[in-house]
Amino acid sequence: MLMQRRSRRAFLRAAAALGTLPLIAPALGQQQKKKLPARGEVLIRNAYVMTMDSATGDIAGGDLHIRAGEIIAVGKGLKAAKATVIDGRGMIVLPGLIETHWHMWNTLLRSMSGDERKYGYFPTSAGIGRHFLPKDMYAGTRLAATEALNAGITTVHDWCHNPRTPEHAEENLRALRESGIRGRFSYGPARGIPVTETVNLADIQRLKGAWDQYSNEGLLTLGVAWRGVQYAVTSPDGKMEFKAIPEEVYRKEYDTARSLGIPLSAHVNIGPKIDYGHVAALDKLGLLYKDLQLIHMISTTPEEVQMVAKSGASVSFSPYTELRIGFGLPNASQFLDAGVPVGLSVDTTTLSGDANMFAIMKAVQNVDNAVAYNEFKLTARRALEIGTILGAKSLGMDDRIGSLVKGKRADLIMVNTRHPNLGVFTDPAHMIVEAAQPANVELVMVDGRILKERGRLTAVDVKQVVAEADAANAAVRKRANWW
Ligand SMILES: [Zn+2]
Repeated sequence: MLMQRRSRRAFLRAAAALGTLPLIAPALGQQQKKKLPARGEVLIRNAYVMTMDSATGDIAGGDLHIRAGEIIAVGKGLKAAKATVIDGRGMIVLPGLIETHWHMWNTLLRSMSGDERKYGYFPTSAGIGRHFLPKDMYAGTRLAATEALNAGITTVHDWCHNPRTPEHAEENLRALRESGIRGRFSYGPARGIPVTETVNLADIQRLKGAWDQYSNEGLLTLGVAWRGVQYAVTSPDGKMEFKAIPEEVYRKEYDTARSLGIPLSAHVNIGPKIDYGHVAALDKLGLLYKDLQLIHMISTTPEEVQMVAKSGASVSFSPYTELRIGFGLPNASQFLDAGVPVGLSVDTTTLSGDANMFAIMKAVQNVDNAVAYNEFKLTARRALEIGTILGAKSLGMDDRIGSLVKGKRADLIMVNTRHPNLGVFTDPAHMIVEAAQPANVELVMVDGRILKERGRLTAVDVKQVVAEADAANAAVRKRANWW
């Protein structure tokens, strides 16, 4: 393993010497910022429209009229004389995909969870995360947001667990703002802070007070990324243990968030081998409530499912990281059956590699059916609901997004069914969940702005984003003395 790491470093040095890797990151502020496109008036005509609204259903040969970021009408044969017409023939139009828990700064460390304990996910993100500068938060989050939009994800929940200083949070937020994506930014504990220390509550209060400057005209909201009452702490050799958070710490964080009206989110019941009983503990303490998001929930008892259902809290699964790290098998149906809003998440590309919500929907369906030994347990249509309207509900945003109905904000994607991996038009829900890929996403609209058109991102210089992230990755690994 050591040899492999040495040779990788030697390869990187050689590549840099040949000029195939950029060595010097452009200074902050030098990047050519592309402005976000205007919200125009658009008529998408003759598409297969999946509204994901139970009352409306699908509309074959359907139209969608959008003006100033709002859905004006959905139906057939719509008239809109002033609108720019987009031909929807051969396309499936559906709500933008909704991601519900993602450590976006981690995308700077894509695929870096190694093959032995000391290079596992936790030591890697903590070991390198300590050396992150504000500009690294920008570079990682910018790359993540670019990947998201390219893949048809229009809403993210950025679970930021590395705001080492207020500037780190500022730069992370700037990346989200410049991308034009919709999302929640949850302010959490920086990597490696002791369990006796609260998250930076003063900075959360500062941001909340000035949120108008950060919200990008309402596209971004603020949350608190909370550790709950116990949290994973990793020693430098990669040994992970769960430590109890002192009551005065978790109470102060919880009470501050609640008093500011900011939603909380926590990783809980991560797996049967390492973390269980967390939800029961929260219930006993009276801390479960509607705006609390519970992430992973792998080692959850039937009693805990009922506690969650009663409280109105939501759940988020990230099948690719849960499988890859060995937490266990996500089981969405046990929560859906109890009426709990379920959302899906990328979590971290340091583990998962990529941010592909089509694959995530497929994985959650496949695991659910495997666990139930039942081909019909979770249907493709239901998986697609989790990736759209239910995901929106789990974030408390279903009044604005998650389905294509009159009056909602215009967050949508158009999938080209004439690509070879789609090819024949069969059951569109099955096609989207089982066969579609980010490369099939022809058009992406967020709040009425077209951020991807004819398969190309419109508001970002992709080459530059990738080059800056690559340079930042090399620099932070050098500072951290990491492979
Ligand atoms: Zn996570």
